[in-house]
Amino acid sequence: MAGILVFIEQRDGSIRKGSLQALSEAKRQAAAKGWPVAAVLPGSGISGEAAGLGAYGASKVYVADDANLALYSGEGYAEVVAKAAGQFEPDAIFFSATAMGRDLAPRVAARLGVGALADVTGLDLDGDQFVARRPVYSGKAFAVVDTAGKKPQVISLRPNVFALEQGEGTAEVVNLDGLSLSIRALVKEFVEKGGGEIDVAEAEIIVSGGRGMKGPENFAMLKELADLLGAAVGASRAAVDAGWIDHSHQVGQTGKVVSPTLYIAVGISGAIQHLAGMGSSKVIVAINKDPDAPIFKVADYGIVGDLFEVVPALIEEVKKIKAA
Ligand SMILES: Cc1cc2nc3c(=O)[nH]c(=O)nc-3n(C[C@H](O)[C@H](O)[C@H](O)COP(=O)(O)OP(=O)(O)OC[C@H]3O[C@@H](n4cnc5c(N)ncnc54)[C@H](O)[C@@H]3O)c2cc1C
Repeated sequence: MAGILVFIEQRDGSIRKGSLQALSEAKRQAAAKGWPVAAVLPGSGISGEAAGLGAYGASKVYVADDANLALYSGEGYAEVVAKAAGQFEPDAIFFSATAMGRDLAPRVAARLGVGALADVTGLDLDGDQFVARRPVYSGKAFAVVDTAGKKPQVISLRPNVFALEQGEGTAEVVNLDGLSLSIRALVKEFVEKGGGEIDVAEAEIIVSGGRGMKGPENFAMLKELADLLGAAVGASRAAVDAGWIDHSHQVGQTGKVVSPTLYIAVGISGAIQHLAGMGSSKVIVAINKDPDAPIFKVADYGIVGDLFEVVPALIEEVKKIKAA
């Protein structure tokens, strides 16, 4: 049966936005062909979340509810997805290209003996084959790729690029029984860094600081602006290498790839390795005292000025708007 299967990522039972975006895109793509869309949800104590995926386009959800799947296991999760694929026989399997999706998609592809298209930012159908567009060379160019006719096509979709669409509906829930789960390395505990901060990889708004911040103490100002906007705090590698902020905040080629609705770059020059991580942001605002800084070439709005004057002024304005 032709159709699209979507891997659903959850953490502590809460479903990740990137997976809902992938499911929404599957629904849009399948609609043109009249294909069915199913989802596969591994975890522990997560069955209650399954039927609700119908609102995002899944007509059926394969659930693997097992204590050994409470925390991500590459082996266990790959087995679950492969099992669901065996039952649903999809033409394509979508993942969100989160850290988990980037690890899992190639594992599933290897199990099924097919290729994987990673971190795609555009999808088209050529007949019954997906043709994907993905950034290469740090975002300087795009490659158009397919899987040379092999099915199912395993595809990971960059988070925040494909729109999330919520409708109505309830999915049929199918329990995946009889899993052998040959997990050789079991994750016992997951220790989260950063105490509940918004992850830049998932944030809708990011306020990022670079070497122009001059020191770690000045990141408090960015944090204040970020909190007011409900944003995450990002950073350039220069700021991370200087020890001003943890690497988990780094945006770029050797950091995280982000695609927020709004990216505010503060005291960041716009080196190609930084642009590689945030170039697909929908709206980019740059604050820099150097009018020739390369960041202005990609910025939708630029403020040429001293960030130590501009950021406090912005904070005051946002406070006024929020108080009104
Ligand atoms: C293999 C490799 C991988 C890399 N990976 C990454 C990566 O993942 N992410 C990344 O970011 N970089 C990465 N880099 C580093 C990258 O090349 C740059 O060195 C880095 O991005 C520069 O950071 P920056 O823009 O904060 O600093 P700078 O380039 O020093 O820019 C600082 C900016 O702040 C402005 N400024 C200074 N003071 C003020 C002020 N008071 N008000 C307003 N503006 C001010 C300056 O005009 C300047 O434009 C990588 C490099 C290599 C070689």
